[in-house]
Amino acid sequence: MSVYKNENIFSKILSGEIPNNTIYENEYVLAFEDINPQSPVHALLIPKGKYTSMTDFSENASDKEIVAFIRAISQITKIKGINDTGYRIISNSGPDSSQEVPHLHFHIVGGRKLGSILP
Ligand code: AMP
Repeated sequence: MSVYKNENIFSKILSGEIPNNTIYENEYVLAFEDINPQSPVHALLIPKGKYTSMTDFSENASDKEIVAFIRAISQITKIKGINDTGYRIISNSGPDSSQEVPHLHFHIVGGRKLGSILP
């Protein structure tokens, strides 16, 4: 398990050092628009706690953090209007996944036919 690095870009978004286009926020999570969207809807959902990946979050987050993270999904899909048309959630964890930002995030993508699960 890699050690959390405070200089990652999502940590800077959480501290307010870098701006974001917020979709939804509460005590435990922040959701914002991806800067390089891969579909008409491309939201990023992150926990406010310092977790590098899904493995780290799954092992170490509190029950409250985990519940808040999952509950936030339907808030975001409602706000973005993709509950009926459908969407996909992707979370890259570790080197084989090509995870770029080492702070756990879910990509929530939709707004078009998404095709097969892997390119
Ligand atoms: P991943 O490869 O799963 O780590 O995805 C990182 C995602 O973060 C990419 O989709 C980027 O477009 C996105 N991203 C990087 N910097 C920013 C930023 N400042 N604001 C919003 N999204 C960002």
